[in-house]
Order: sequence, then C-alpha cells, then structure tokens
Amino acid sequence: MSPLLPGATLGVMGGGQLGRMFVHAAQRMGYFTAVLDPDDSSPAGRVSHHHVRADYLDEIGLARLSGYSDAITTEFENVPAGALARLAEHRPVAPGAAAVAIAQDRAQEKAHFARCGVACAPHAVIASEEDLAGVGDELLPGILKTSRLGYDGKGQARVASRDELRAAWEGMKRADCVLEKMLPLAFECSVVVARGRDGAMVNLPVQRNLHREGILAVTEVHEGCVAPAQARRAVEATRAIAQGLDYVGVLCVEFFGLADGALVVNEMAPRPHNSGHWSIEGADVSQFELQVRTLAGLPLVQPRQHSPAVMLNLLGDLWFREAGREAAPDWAGVLALPGTHLHLYGKLSARPGRKMGHLTVTGENVNRVRATALQAARLLGIAPF
Ligand code: ATP
Ligand code: MG
Repeated sequence: MSPLLPGATLGVMGGGQLGRMFVHAAQRMGYFTAVLDPDDSSPAGRVSHHHVRADYLDEIGLARLSGYSDAITTEFENVPAGALARLAEHRPVAPGAAAVAIAQDRAQEKAHFARCGVACAPHAVIASEEDLAGVGDELLPGILKTSRLGYDGKGQARVASRDELRAAWEGMKRADCVLEKMLPLAFECSVVVARGRDGAMVNLPVQRNLHREGILAVTEVHEGCVAPAQARRAVEATRAIAQGLDYVGVLCVEFFGLADGALVVNEMAPRPHNSGHWSIEGADVSQFELQVRTLAGLPLVQPRQHSPAVMLNLLGDLWFREAGREAAPDWAGVLALPGTHLHLYGKLSARPGRKMGHLTVTGENVNRVRATALQAARLLGIAPF
C-alpha cells in the first residue's frame, strides 16, 4: 500500500479522549477525520470533520464511516472485533481485528505473552465451578479480574480467601475471569511502541506509572525513572509482544516491577495509552502522531524525548473538593506555573473517577519538573507523589 498523504481522511472507531487527541494530531498534519461514536457530545466527535453517531455494530453507521475514511483505526479497546473485521472488508484497518480481539481478553492476552516468552503474574483462568475448585492456594491473596470489558480497575475484586473468591465470582455473575496472584509491586511502568505494515518499529522511552485505586494517577518520564536494566527489558518485551501479533499501529504494554528486580507484564492496550500522553509536549513525535503515521503508512522515526515530563491525570474528583458544591479547579493558578500544559477533553459533566483531562509538566531538568508538578498537584488537590 502506498502512503495515504495529507488530504486523505482518517477514520477512528470511538469518540473518547484518545480519539480526540488522534483527531488533533491528524488535523495538524493536514488530514481530514471521521469519528464513529454513539454519543452526540463525544470528545472526539465534537472536534472531527465528520461524526457518525451510531453504535459500534450498526451496519449503516459502519458503512458511513468507511464511506468517509481512507483508513480506519480504533481508540476504544472494547470496540467489537467483529466491527473492525467488517470495516476491513472495505478499508485498511489498523490495528487489525485479530490483535484487538486478543487484547480484549485477559486470558488470551496472557497466553500471547507466554508465547512471546514474557512472564506475567501467576494466574488461573476461572470459567467454571471446576476451575474455581482447582485454584491453588499459592494464588491467594489475589485479584479476580473479569476477562473482558474491564478498565480503570472496574471489574476487579481483591480476594484474600477461597470464600471471598467464590463470593466475588458470584458477584461478577460467574463471568469468565482471571485470578491473579497479588504481587508486591515496587513500581509500575509501561512502554508505547509503534509498528508499521513493513514491520518497522519505534518506541517511546519507558514511563513510570503511579496508580491510585486502580486508576492511573501520575506518569513520570525521565532518565533513570526506571533502572536501565529493567527499562531495557521492558522495551524488548514490548517489541517482542508487538512482533508476535504482527501488529500494525500503536500498542502500549504495562508492567509490574517487583522488589527482587523481576519485571512481569500486566496487560496491553491496542491503542495509544494514558501513560503516553506526556509525549505530546515531551517528545518530538507524540504517540498520536505515531498512530497517524502507522495508519497512513508514513515512515516511522524514533521519537526523541526533549524534556523530562510528569503527567497528572485530572479526574472528576477535582471538581468536588468543596462539600456539596461542584467547582472548576484553579486552572489559572496552574497555568501561572512555567512548563504546564493543560488538556481538557470537553466532557460535559464531571464525575468522581471520570478522566476529565490531564496536565503535563515539562522543563529543563527533572528536579524543576517534579517541583512544578507537585505545586500543580497541591493547587488541584491531588495527593503528593
Ligand atoms: P486499565 O485498563 O485502565 O489500565 P484495568 O482495569 O485493566 O486498568 P489492571 O491494569 O489489571 O486494570 O489493574 C489496575 C491496577 O491494579 C494495576 O495498575 C496495579 O496497580 C493494580 N494491580 C493489578 N493487578 C495486580 C496484581 N496482580 N498485583 C498487584 N497489583 C495489581
Ligand atoms: Mg491497566
């Protein structure tokens, strides 16, 4: 396939914030964009040239999206793989339905990691009474996770005993699940890789992530944020995982670092990732431009980080710091700090736990960037890190 050059139209399944930042990157480079999302006021739909308001499996909607688009990507992990397969009958689609289907299912995802020789947490698949009875004691305490449709810690329960495990599984309506051993995490990190149709691969530097209550809170990216040996292993593992899927597009792999120096893979997302948002201001090629380039078949160049970066997620909780009253955070105070870059996704209402935006801080050195990020966190009511 010869590259789709600026002037072509790039389509995206899903209208959330990831789609919005993809649309921004594509438009900056001179592409037209089309978004399919059922929500009238979706963050990406509102900034795209075309917005198809339809469900992900609506035949007419899919036909309209492929009518507008010269190639189509996805921003929403739970887009039914069948819809992507359908679109691929008419247009280039990246990532492909097969890779997305694996990433949508924790059991298949872990099997893929094993095939690529990358270790993950000890776990068992629980799809039946027999599976439940056969769980070894060594997996407790553990975390029971639904195999499909989980995000931001939803669809997960921490279980300390067999009784709790059974109760949690019943609570999840006996859905297919994976029970993972609870690991003593020293830190978490992730790597974003982009792979073209020709197999060329580039990656962003390793990102150190802090989660709170199962939701990403802070990402830091600077020299030494992860020890060099572990950073190297994370990048190698991510590349092997993408290669093993014959992946085309942007892929993010999340890892757990353990106290004994071991690194185990957690999960992957077949799209740009919250932990890669810093790259918009901190690197010369962002994860969203990488998504544009892989979809359009443009050359990939290794991104260069030109500034240390700290990203703070802005959750809806920040709007509810005063009891009983919704109030916008002190944006003016935050923007008075040099090196702060505010992103708000245009969501109409704030709710606790909802991702409303993020703030990236860049600057000339790590100490300055961390100090500014901590100042911003204090103004916003985000706990120090
Ligand atoms: P998302 O897709 O939004 O990243 P998710 O809902 O798929 O999140 P996970 O990545 O599986 O959730 O888990 C969320 C967080 O919970 C992890 O980043 C980690 O902090 C913690 N966690 C998950 N599994 C384990 C484990 N086996 N041991 C210790 N902590 C864990
Ligand atoms: Mg996760």
